[in-house]
Amino acid sequence: MGCGKATKGPWSVAKFDGNTVVQAEPVLAHGFPGKVSWNIAIVMGTPGGRDKQANARMMAAAPDLLAALEAVEWQGSMFKDLEGKPYTTCPACRRAKVEGHAPGCLIGNALAKARGEV
Ligand SMILES: [Zn+2]
Repeated sequence: MGCGKATKGPWSVAKFDGNTVVQAEPVLAHGFPGKVSWNIAIVMGTPGGRDKQANARMMAAAPDLLAALEAVEWQGSMFKDLEGKPYTTCPACRRAKVEGHAPGCLIGNALAKARGEV
């Protein structure tokens, strides 16, 4: 149910026209000399919250966090099924991949949100 593929990471926090932005890694783009950094988001904070930089860092970390969660998603404890075939589980909810994540699983919920499945 995803709505496309996100811009490839890594992303970084930068200043652009006085705004705090999250940028994609610079790439060669048709019609532009050299590599160009694309702004993915202009980041806001809550009034007086001084949280703009923290929000920007969290957004910029998203591709890395997604990759980290995908790397560990089914790398929990190792078990063997009734036929002796080994399988691993989600380290958060302890369910096997064939069962899918338990409702409320932190890893399952975060990945579903990132993949546009919720
Ligand atoms: Zn899980």
